[in-house]
Amino acid sequence: MHFKVLIPQQIDSEGVKLLQKAGATIIDPPSYDEETLLTYVQDVDAILARTERYSQKVLENAYRLKIIARHGIGVDNIDVKAANERGILITNAPTANINAVAELVLGFMLSGMRNLLNADKAVRCGDFEIRNRLFGYELRGKTLGIIGFGNIGRLIADKSNDGLGMNILIYDPYISRENVPSNMEVTNKLENLLSHSDVVTLHVPYSRDTHHLINRKSIKLMKKDALLINASRGGVVDEDALADVLRKNEIRGACIDVFENEPPVMEHPLFQLDNVIVTPHLGALTFEAFKEMALTTAGDIIAVMKG
Ligand code: NAD
Repeated sequence: MHFKVLIPQQIDSEGVKLLQKAGATIIDPPSYDEETLLTYVQDVDAILARTERYSQKVLENAYRLKIIARHGIGVDNIDVKAANERGILITNAPTANINAVAELVLGFMLSGMRNLLNADKAVRCGDFEIRNRLFGYELRGKTLGIIGFGNIGRLIADKSNDGLGMNILIYDPYISRENVPSNMEVTNKLENLLSHSDVVTLHVPYSRDTHHLINRKSIKLMKKDALLINASRGGVVDEDALADVLRKNEIRGACIDVFENEPPVMEHPLFQLDNVIVTPHLGALTFEAFKEMALTTAGDIIAVMKG
């Protein structure tokens, strides 16, 4: 068996080895902008996709492409309709990185509630007395509001409930109560979750329905001391509205892993604020998840190539 796989961004070498062993020639383009992809998709059987965009225009040039295996969960960077019309299969790695994201969120909760980043900066500048102004909050007994109770939301609920002693409140219109542990609360109103949670964390896919789910109106419902965490997709939060409430200290803070436009511009309104922690879409980037995502996607490609 011989086939060509386009891999525009780096993946774990174990995934590359698995593909090569199965007969793949790896195509590694010089960049992954639309113009480059337009050329490189023309002659490949499979794509192992990370965050680069596959527009209709790109897919129209993919004459022999059979599969796009997404190295991760969200497929919002792929024009799914255009792929379906051409009979191109899209797969993802639905559980390979969920623990990595869940642990980042735990880190965000603890750092945000205990002011770890501001404490670090102050101590390095010689301000040890800041300790008297950096009282934090404990997570035990607080309410964690989880928007989107899929694989990641569930894992965070379990870890935060069992491990940290938090109460869990869930908003997800697509799940039924029977599938939620009895010690966790479910609400069918987003407003209710926002006004009752001490930490709000987002775990929905990005779609027309979830675009700016957290906006100027909804964010105002959050408690004054609440923390907002977004490790889902940037477009789920209206970043200008978030920056406004943070500037006025109308919520405690925000921890943001994902941006509406990535990479974000240097003048991004959130970067001026010290009640914000920002990370560069790090959710899935642990050594463990990176290897697992590469092996899952390589396995999907090989299975399709074998027919
Ligand atoms: P999942 O598909 O298992 O769960 C998503 C959940 O969101 C589902 O239960 C669904 O019913 C719910 N949902 C959909 N629309 C909703 C809405 N309008 N309101 C409330 N709930 C809604 O996905 P997952 O594995 O839990 O991942 C969630 C998202 O996290 C992914 O789609 C991806 O965009 C993002 N993600 C980010 C990173 C990162 O690096 N930061 C890594 C992995 C995944």
